[in-house]
Amino acid sequence: MSSLEEQIKICEEKSSVLEPNQEIRTDWFSQIQQFTHQYIDELQDAKAFIKTEAQPVYDFDPETTFSLEETLAELRHNFNDFGLRASSGGHVGYIPGGGIFPAGLGDLLAAVTNEYAGMYFGSPGAVTLENQLLDWVKSLFDFPEEAVGNLTSGGSIANLIALTAARDAKGIKNEKVPNAVVYMTLQVHHCIQKALRIIGLGDVVIRYIPMNDRHQLDIQFLEKQLQLDHDNHLQPFLVIGSAGTTDTGAIDPLEDMAVLSKKFDCWFHVDGAYGGFFYLLENLKPLFKGIEKADSLVVDPHKGLFLPYGLGVVLVKNKDSVFHSHHYTANYMQDAYGDGTINPADVSPELTKHFRGLRLWLPIKLLGIAPFKACLEEKILLTHYFREELVKLGFVVGPEPDLSVSYFYYPKDNLKQQNDFNRSFHLRLIQDGSVFLSSSTIDEKFVIRMAILSFRTKKRTIDRALDMIRSQLKIEN
Ligand SMILES: *Cc1c(COP(=O)(O)O)cnc(C)c1O
Repeated sequence: MSSLEEQIKICEEKSSVLEPNQEIRTDWFSQIQQFTHQYIDELQDAKAFIKTEAQPVYDFDPETTFSLEETLAELRHNFNDFGLRASSGGHVGYIPGGGIFPAGLGDLLAAVTNEYAGMYFGSPGAVTLENQLLDWVKSLFDFPEEAVGNLTSGGSIANLIALTAARDAKGIKNEKVPNAVVYMTLQVHHCIQKALRIIGLGDVVIRYIPMNDRHQLDIQFLEKQLQLDHDNHLQPFLVIGSAGTTDTGAIDPLEDMAVLSKKFDCWFHVDGAYGGFFYLLENLKPLFKGIEKADSLVVDPHKGLFLPYGLGVVLVKNKDSVFHSHHYTANYMQDAYGDGTINPADVSPELTKHFRGLRLWLPIKLLGIAPFKACLEEKILLTHYFREELVKLGFVVGPEPDLSVSYFYYPKDNLKQQNDFNRSFHLRLIQDGSVFLSSSTIDEKFVIRMAILSFRTKKRTIDRALDMIRSQLKIEN
């Protein structure tokens, strides 16, 4: 053998572990299977939050190898014994996670097959599957077939793509930026302001429109402000509505906002990252009236469809405005163009991407959409149940929520006393951790916030929360 061939052989042998044989794969699978079963079975009784001074420690050294067994034990400890259990039904703070099991299998299949989901030319199978999902989301929200869409890593990137399209459609660049005006409430998710900065619109004028007592945008104020800005020769170009705000679950008056947007030649964007999928429920549809009139829409299956983190959706009606920033041809990609299909890479900053469609497609394929709807409805009912029981305990609850986010506080004679009490009461709840509730400040009031969206949150979870609240209340009072 030539020395070149010998060297190749040595490298081949040394790297052969990168393709473990069937026996090893079977062993690893069975260990992972055991871990998975144990993890899921323990979830029901596990604390939702663990507050501790200790910190996770990992034994990691790229020059050394470890067994899967010891590695799984290490992960179990570092995941389970610190902070928030995002997969637990007891996570009813922030916007809860979930992580339905078949989505995990979808991820596994996507990783093992590693289908190239960036371009149709590379994987017609993967891209067709993703485009089919996008067509389904379009039909759900009564968006036209010609709209384009993308499966993103989450709501933040989805919003970024939508706002970039708005910018390009309205030609907001260079000297136009300081005169351009965006309209939203202070309750929009902060990824909106962040996206504006990223896309070079940090210097636009932002008008925070006041809200009514249900935290929805006040449409009269919006109209006045649009007129005023128009009369003052500014350029109103973007109106942003929330279909379920993160803090209070409020849905803005979308229909009226759509009408005003049109009148003042503005792009109308709707962020439904938290609330969008409640549109699946027939009885809630009227709340979302006008959502179908949006120029762009964001929804987050890793919230409203209970998927593990890592999947958002953006839809944009004006294809050209999306292509303006994202469609690109390069010499080294010349084989990949010309078949007329819309490639994920034309609609997103990403080229090579995770084949993330499969994690949504597989669960719906196996289970159908009906259980998802029932679960969303259950979340709404549990929110009412929780609020009713809290009132019986003497708490004041926030205004009737549109969806499944609400808040409460224990009333005291004056605001300072009340805030002090509720702050320390909330700390106790965090210390307990059976169920995790977050906090917020609304109209200067410290409030305890509930967000019920995990598919694992059940009536028994809420009863557990109420038990925790009852016993901490006894101590605090
Ligand atoms: C969560 C959320 C976002 C951000 O989405 P990520 O998936 O966390 O990036 C945007 N808007 C709203 C209303 C949200 O609730």
